[in-house]
Amino acid sequence: MAEPIFQRLTLIGIGLIGSSIARGARAFGLARQIVICDASPQALARAAELNLGDVYEADPTLAVAQGDCVILCTPVGTLASVAASIASALQPGTILSDVGSTKQSVMRDVAPLVPEGVAFVPAHPIAGTEFSGPDAGKPDLFQERWCLLTPSADTDEGAVQKIEALWHGLGARTARMDAPHHDRVLAIVSHLPHLLAFTICGTADDLADETRQEVLQFAASGFRDFTRIAASDPVMWRDIFLNNKEALLEMLARFSEDAQAMARAVRWGDTGYIEDKINRSRKIRRSLIDLKQA
Ligand code: NAP
Repeated sequence: MAEPIFQRLTLIGIGLIGSSIARGARAFGLARQIVICDASPQALARAAELNLGDVYEADPTLAVAQGDCVILCTPVGTLASVAASIASALQPGTILSDVGSTKQSVMRDVAPLVPEGVAFVPAHPIAGTEFSGPDAGKPDLFQERWCLLTPSADTDEGAVQKIEALWHGLGARTARMDAPHHDRVLAIVSHLPHLLAFTICGTADDLADETRQEVLQFAASGFRDFTRIAASDPVMWRDIFLNNKEALLEMLARFSEDAQAMARAVRWGDTGYIEDKINRSRKIRRSLIDLKQA
């Protein structure tokens, strides 16, 4: 096996994403030592039971000491306070990264706290499931998935390449883009679909009692697919919505206009419009399958 990329990899937050990184880093020999830190004593104890790391540490300042790579894997709303709690303990030469789903907020909340000599390389793996916690992780979660990096122009190139190497080692493909662009893209491909899923489940739940019962009993695949997305963690998604407000509201406004146009086509029996929209959607699905992202 090749030399590990990092000597001491610290993961703060050992939920779905943190525990998938830990499992993958161990399976593919990417770090000599894995240090796990979590604010939840239950999560930390469970990580130890599952043997996800080599060191388990509740105190974040001790967890990051002597680490050559620290990755923040907590909800985006917590990143400012987590970064503030470790800033004074980060050693020069350490690479700090994260996996947060919104990147402008991470640049705003974390970048100003990063001490001199520490490179900050924000990243976002586009992979996940509706499950959370240390049990939910999988070593191959990132295989064939994209991980988007949003370093600023003056970030040390060597540090960016090491984080890219880590993600390649976990099986992911990487791309670089700026944070505002990342947030606009993710608003349409991830954040808006989640907002719609939470909304449609709420709408079904508000129906009269006997209809609601039938929704559950006869759930067709369309509604079932929405319920899977809507089963995602409420804290994580609350934080994502609030930290990508502008792009999300812009995409929602565009979607609402398009939904109104579809409603009008249905009302007036505009078959051409309806078929055209469905055909365009089918093409998108086929492209996803071709790109192995389905
Ligand atoms: P998760 O399964 O809920 O795990 C998060 C873990 O962080 C929990 O154990 C949580 O403990 C802990 N935590 C919360 N606040 C903390 C703090 N201040 N200090 C230390 N630990 C803390 O979440 P996840 O799905 O792995 O998501 C983690 C990050 O990855 C988020 O930023 C999310 O946006 C991003 N992400 C998620 C996905 C996805 O599909 N899930 C995909 C890509 C990126 P408690 O349970 O006690 O709060």
